[in-house]
Amino acid sequence: MMKPKVAFFDFAGCEGDQLQVANLEEDLLALLGKVDVVCFREVMKECDEDYAIAFVEGSCTRLQDEDRLKRIRENAKIVVAIGSCATIGGINSLRNYKNLDEVRKTVYGEKAKLFDTYEARPIDAVIPVDAYVYGCPIDKDEFLHVVTSLLMGKKPDIPTYPVCVECKKNENVCAFERDQFCVGPVTRAGCDSCCVNEGTICWGCRGLVDNPNENSHKEVLIKYGLTVEEAIGKFKLYFGWQEGKK
Ligand code: SF4
Ligand code: SF4
Ligand code: SF4
Repeated sequence: MMKPKVAFFDFAGCEGDQLQVANLEEDLLALLGKVDVVCFREVMKECDEDYAIAFVEGSCTRLQDEDRLKRIRENAKIVVAIGSCATIGGINSLRNYKNLDEVRKTVYGEKAKLFDTYEARPIDAVIPVDAYVYGCPIDKDEFLHVVTSLLMGKKPDIPTYPVCVECKKNENVCAFERDQFCVGPVTRAGCDSCCVNEGTICWGCRGLVDNPNENSHKEVLIKYGLTVEEAIGKFKLYFGWQEGKK
């Protein structure tokens, strides 16, 4: 039987998600037994335009990115957004709060005018997306779950509840009880609350959970000692695009 052809593409991002895939080790070999990888810049030179599944990493940050995304959409039966930058706009969206001309000057100096840019956005702001692998970077097991589900023609099972649920199951001491601030109550679970398990907080890299109550959570952050601006700043880190589009 012909193996489905898959391709990986990157837009604005650090390529950390593709690195996660490249680092799958023995699971990568098992995966390669089920699919043919025809384009994956991190690990191979060739790139074929004939593919059934496209994995897209990174945010769309330029008008010309839209043309490339539309070509990918035309070629692929299934498009999967991988990582925060592609799924929710991610950390790239922080710049949307600033004057973009200033941002360009900061990065490119005198050559700023040569570099076209616009508000950073997730790829589903440009093309329809069939499946999402959240996180910054993505979780390897969740990536494998999504790929396996798609190959079986099933909808991937992605949590629709907040990180707090996993955090409580893991019996962590809540960040608020440690005098820290956490956006776990409004963030989509699926990472097994890994950051809190390590003694830190949830920054929200998996994006807003379905039906979050952000206003109420901002009030909690303020109640626990943040200024209004600081509380909003917690939401800007990863939720910038999602919040701005409501
Ligand atoms: S989601 Fe995180 S790991 Fe992935 S490209 Fe963006 S910054 Fe890098
Ligand atoms: S530490 Fe964060 S994720 Fe864990 S229970 Fe507290 S608010 Fe929720
Ligand atoms: S705990 Fe929060 S910041 Fe950490 S991986 Fe999970 S969603 Fe991302």
